[in-house]
Amino acid sequence: MENCIFCKIVRGELPADVVYEDEFVIAFLDIAPINKGHILVIPKEHHTGIGSVPEEVAGRMLRVASRLGIASRRALDLEGFNLHLADATCAGQIVMHAHLHVVPRGAEDGFNWNWRQLQYASAEEKQNIVNDIKNKLKL
Ligand code: AMP
Ligand code: ZN
Repeated sequence: MENCIFCKIVRGELPADVVYEDEFVIAFLDIAPINKGHILVIPKEHHTGIGSVPEEVAGRMLRVASRLGIASRRALDLEGFNLHLADATCAGQIVMHAHLHVVPRGAEDGFNWNWRQLQYASAEEKQNIVNDIKNKLKL
C-alpha cells in the first residue's frame, strides 16, 4: 500500500533494523521499544488486520515471533517474552499494517501490562457469549 510505513520498510524505502526476513514475513526492531530488543514481525503483503492474513503467512508470523522471542531471551540474558497484537484502533493499533510484537521480558524490567479481571454476571450471560461467538466464527 502506497503510504503505509511498514509497506515502505518492506519495499526498502524506509530504514529498519532487520533481524529476520523470508518470502512471507520480515521482522525488525521496534523504533520505540518497551524493552530493548522489542521486535515487530509483519507480513510482507499489506493487511490492515490479522484476520485477512493467509493462514500460511499468519502461521509463519507466529513461528518466527516465538523463535525470535527465544533468541532474544538468550541474546539479552532475560527470563521471558510477551507476544502482543493490537487489532483496530480501540485495541491500541496505531500502524494499520498487521504486526506481531515480540517483547523481551525480565523479572525486574519495571513494565506491567494493565490487565484487569472482570466477572460474568451469570452462567447464562457467559453461555450467550459463547453461543454468539461460535455463531460468528468463520475459519
Ligand atoms: P501498534 O500500537 O501495535 O500499532 O504498534 C505500532 C508500533 O510500531 C509501535 O510500537 C511503534 O513504536 C512502532 N513503529 C512505528 N514506526 C516504526 C518504524 N518506522 N520502525 C519501527 N517501528 C515503528
Ligand atoms: Zn502496509
